[in-house]
Amino acid sequence: MQVRITVSFPYEAPVSQSLFDRASAVTPGGVNSPVRAFQAVGGTPRFMVSGTGPYLTDADGREYVDLVCSWGPMILGHSHPEVIAAVQEAVARGTSFGTPGAGEVELAEEIVARIEPVEQVRLVSSGTEATMSAIRLARGFTGRPKVIKFAGCYHGHVDALLAAAGSGVATLGLPDTPGVTGAQAGDTIVLPYNDIEAVRAAFAAHPGEIACVITEAAPGNMGVVPPLPGFNQGLKDLCAGNGALYISDEVMTGFRVSKAGWYGIDGVRPDLMTFGKVMGGGFPAAAFGGRADVMAHLAPAGPVYQAGTLSGNPIATAAGVAQLRLLDDAAYEKVDAVSAEVRGLVTAALAKEGVAHRVQAAGNMFTVFFTEAEVTDYDAAKAQESFRFTAFFHSMLSQGVYLPPSAFESWFLSTAHDTAAVERIAAALPAAARAAAAATA
Ligand code: PLP
Repeated sequence: MQVRITVSFPYEAPVSQSLFDRASAVTPGGVNSPVRAFQAVGGTPRFMVSGTGPYLTDADGREYVDLVCSWGPMILGHSHPEVIAAVQEAVARGTSFGTPGAGEVELAEEIVARIEPVEQVRLVSSGTEATMSAIRLARGFTGRPKVIKFAGCYHGHVDALLAAAGSGVATLGLPDTPGVTGAQAGDTIVLPYNDIEAVRAAFAAHPGEIACVITEAAPGNMGVVPPLPGFNQGLKDLCAGNGALYISDEVMTGFRVSKAGWYGIDGVRPDLMTFGKVMGGGFPAAAFGGRADVMAHLAPAGPVYQAGTLSGNPIATAAGVAQLRLLDDAAYEKVDAVSAEVRGLVTAALAKEGVAHRVQAAGNMFTVFFTEAEVTDYDAAKAQESFRFTAFFHSMLSQGVYLPPSAFESWFLSTAHDTAAVERIAAALPAAARAAAAATA
């Protein structure tokens, strides 16, 4: 996608650019995950070399206040000494054994202790694996083929979940990317988010065929679009009434928006849940879990196969356990407070310049949409003036604040975002708001 840049670049990043050139020769698009390439905003992706507390330093030696936090995991900030110490201690004992280990038990116990609907949990290495395995388990448990997902909800790059659809109720999924066949996406029903009547109609149209509904507990992947009051409960009730499983994807919200994730906020009890990001402390660790009678269908206890060479890796579990143990009530209060403060600053700066905007939050996650209308689904998110975000983003970047390089992402904060970091953000906002106001499509 080509995006016209409406700001000039008063800054350069020659070392990042040269790394990007080298990367582009050996890696498709120069990156190992598409959003990192800055395609939505243009310009040179910054290659980061180190992170400390709320700051990242790039290969050109520039320091940024980080409002991405590795897309969520770094809730204690970068290089937290206790997490680093746990990792160093673990790595000194060896890096992978391919056997059960105590760290896996500790991480599983932490998760089960925090999230009451999770009676049993299986560790994997990415959020994608977690959601892929959860829907396989739901299909195996129910003996049914179909899955309902919502447009704008991202559950990783699982073939069956990379289906989106045009408007319309109960539209059968069409593959959203080359390489996903009609067969792989054909059992996926894609519905508009926050539309409980569409879900009811889909259950009526496919009696006895729907294995599960999977939803982001509070979506952050179309920008932050929290569930309308009663939506998640409605999903749960429709699933329960129709013999389907309710899967809450908490890869992003889990252990981030509260000790018990979004479940800790809305209390709607899922049958299965998926986790990632924060629980790995910056390492590849993820999980799915839930009702013990459902989890009992997983191999080797049951017939639904699922496995992983590096699942429960000792370094990743040590980092995850260390991070989760530091995340007490005070830590969440701190992240919530700094998130509210930054939201207030952004709102004030944009309002001062008369820029139409709407800040939407789910706990301490939030997105600044460049629109006045409430955003309740993907179509509404796409209707924002994202060219204003592009100008805003580059102005912030040029002033040393690293935002997610897309208008459709959550901003993330950490316990390390202190007064000094917030002051830097505040200092950058007036010029960024002026750039957003002056931007043209
Ligand atoms: N589910 C949600 C809600 C996510 O936000 C993501 C990643 O952003 C995933 C699943 C996939 O996780 P991973 O990137 O670890 O595969």
